[in-house]
Amino acid sequence: MKATGIIIGAGIIGSAIAYELSRKGLTDLHVVDPDLEGTLSSTERNAGGVRHLWEQPINRELARHSIALFEKIKTEIGFHQTGYLWLFGKGEEKSGEDMLARTQSHQLNYEQLSISEIKSKYPFIDKTDDLAFAIFGARDGLINSNSLKQYFRNEAKKRGVIFHDRHVVHGMKETPHGAEISLSTVTSDIAAEDHLKNPFPLLKKEGDLNWQADFVILAAGAWSRELLLPHIKHPLISPIRRQIVLFKAENFDMNSYGMVVDTSRVYFHPEGGNILAGLVLKNEAQGYRFDVDKDFFESHLWPALYERSSSLEKLKPITGWGGLYSYTPDTSGILGKIPKTKSLYECHSFTGRGVMQSYGAAIAITELIINGRFETLQASCLSRKRFLAGNESELLPEGLHI
Ligand SMILES: Cc1cc2nc3c(=O)[nH]c(=O)nc-3n(C[C@H](O)[C@H](O)[C@H](O)COP(=O)(O)OP(=O)(O)OC[C@H]3O[C@@H](n4cnc5c(N)ncnc54)[C@H](O)[C@@H]3O)c2cc1C
Repeated sequence: MKATGIIIGAGIIGSAIAYELSRKGLTDLHVVDPDLEGTLSSTERNAGGVRHLWEQPINRELARHSIALFEKIKTEIGFHQTGYLWLFGKGEEKSGEDMLARTQSHQLNYEQLSISEIKSKYPFIDKTDDLAFAIFGARDGLINSNSLKQYFRNEAKKRGVIFHDRHVVHGMKETPHGAEISLSTVTSDIAAEDHLKNPFPLLKKEGDLNWQADFVILAAGAWSRELLLPHIKHPLISPIRRQIVLFKAENFDMNSYGMVVDTSRVYFHPEGGNILAGLVLKNEAQGYRFDVDKDFFESHLWPALYERSSSLEKLKPITGWGGLYSYTPDTSGILGKIPKTKSLYECHSFTGRGVMQSYGAAIAITELIINGRFETLQASCLSRKRFLAGNESELLPEGLHI
């Protein structure tokens, strides 16, 4: 096969790129994934939070452009601007005030809430002795990331993009005529899952198919690391599990509220009549893990929730899961051309914000491919060149990360 472009990975990032490239008129585009359902993908396993508030200007811009689209199609993609409440503890005042100042120029309607304003807007937040204030973003909220992914895919398919299920890419390389991927088919859902839980064996051997294209974009989320290894000695990406639990709270209905992020970095929001909550555990080992630790709810999540709210005392866990954050050393994403190549691109590792940054990232990589430069967003700072020795001042640390 000889195509115009091939995208490796059909999560939210690969699907958004397919949408944007086809919207800009490119034809003969193919997206390849061992599991189009995305059972283990981060797009399937995330918390659905959407906000404009980030420390790095490029992260704010990626979110701003994405949210501008989400607002236009909000009913189709289940985007509810129910607000985002970020609680700041005593001693964290400076970081909260700095954060608020950064957003003022964008007219994002963020407001600072005093303790009494927090209590009146969120009466269930009743344990506030350690709090200084909160920042509330009315235009932020929650999204159905699956609906968003389907929106991108459906629009791309209408313009002729082909999504190939049960195809796993073993490697990519440049040829004198462009780019080439080596791939094979997987025969069942179980085989696809096996590969995603342990990607190393398949990637160590050549696939039985070779497809050529003018360009290839690597958008395989946390799995991008293995596909980069032949090209880059240290891909600088770590797949790290994050855990989430869905539970019912006795005598407490959270449905009319949005996302709450606590000082402990536990976050929680309403989810179809229940509550969904996650908490970042420090020292989580790298690896492709999708389970939930037996003691996660009782020993970590529940104590953090109850410490903030008496309404969160009697909780009944319903289900839980793990999903992957793809981490870079500064926790900002990687977007650009793979160094020393002409036709291989990468767009991945947006840690805990890939959904809310998906469309901004797609705009940027599309412009780079079609026009050879970034126009709408100044995204050259997302190149992996920032990690080279001597470029430390170009790093994009994102402390506002959960
Ligand atoms: C617990 C949790 C909570 C989160 N909360 C939020 C949130 O509130 N808001 C937010 O914006 N983001 C959140 N995120 C982050 C967000 O989910 C991710 O950044 C985003 O989904 C990444 O999308 P992706 O397309 O890069 O990767 P993925 O969705 O993981 O997609 C990668 C795709 O690549 C495919 N693939 C893998 N290997 C190969 C191969 N060899 N060949 C071909 N295809 C391959 C996989 O099957 C998969 O479909 C959260 C993530 C987690 C885990």
